[in-house]
Amino acid sequence: MNACGETPIVFTASDLADGGKVFRELDPPARLAVFGDPVAHSASPPMHNAALKARGLEIQYVRIRVTSEELPQALRNLTTAGFLGASLTIPHKQAALPILNEVSLESRLMGAVNTVQVVDGKLRGHNTDGPGLSAAIREEFGIPLKELRVLILGGAGGAGRAITVQCALEGCPGITVANRKTEKGDALASEIMTARGVKVDSIALSTLSSEALQSAVANCDLIINATPLGMKADDPSPLPDGLLTAKHLVYDTVYSGGETALLKQSKMARSRCTNGFSMLLHQGALQNSLWFGEPAQVETMRKALTDLSS
Ligand code: NAP
Repeated sequence: MNACGETPIVFTASDLADGGKVFRELDPPARLAVFGDPVAHSASPPMHNAALKARGLEIQYVRIRVTSEELPQALRNLTTAGFLGASLTIPHKQAALPILNEVSLESRLMGAVNTVQVVDGKLRGHNTDGPGLSAAIREEFGIPLKELRVLILGGAGGAGRAITVQCALEGCPGITVANRKTEKGDALASEIMTARGVKVDSIALSTLSSEALQSAVANCDLIINATPLGMKADDPSPLPDGLLTAKHLVYDTVYSGGETALLKQSKMARSRCTNGFSMLLHQGALQNSLWFGEPAQVETMRKALTDLSS
């Protein structure tokens, strides 16, 4: 069941075969989808369908359960099934990279694609997670990401890597990547520093130990949680108590469930803080604008997401 208590309709990869007959016969026909495994929980269909309706388009966005083995063929079938594109979620964001005909420079550096666009029968990949986070920071705190010293907890993971790359592309005055083990952060930092378009001279590395985090937190303006800690109700905070102050901004990318332990800590310290709802919204709005070549109706999409959680 989804957040509305309904059993969502989930199509399968085999429905994309035969020129997508199943999707063409829907009313309205499906021309966009989210690929994932599992995918029934995805909040993307209501958000994207609201945006399609706002554009006055008689098409819909559906959930398709695609396994890892099915991904290459399912992506190729998007073109023959008449799709405009697709969103990719776990476990496909990294795996799609070598299958697509073209991948944006940013997505390649982020090591992942969350948006596929069909252009003249070819598959083009983008990543809107990094730019979506950037738009969310500006909206929530009224400060451009590029002006902030940022500490990214889990910064070498999937979403964390996209955020770290976004910070480097925007030229943030300080970037610290904190991972349980620093090897992953080390490899990512080396890759970023040799890439084109990067506007920073260095990326600092930290572990998630109390001692390492003490100085990392003291020397940053914005803390972003990109670990899965907070997705389960009884998860601890990724930060030890007593490090946050009222000068910190805290962005927890977790958007499911109630208030996370990190957000509770932030409120106690009087730090300005928010959950990952706005990143989800803005990465979706940017996907919609890529597919249609003009800005999305963000407020309509926001309302659809808010209605889901209320
Ligand atoms: P992921 O690829 O598995 O990366 C998770 C990162 O967190 C890794 O760097 C991992 O580091 C670290 N980690 C995992 N478990 C941990 C633990 N118990 N303690 C400390 N660090 C831990 O996951 P993901 O797909 O990027 O998702 C990460 C978070 O981002 C989730 O909370 C998800 O909800 C959120 N997210 C939000 C949005 C949005 O739109 N708001 C979009 C995407 C993702 P090591 O194993 O290397 O230590």
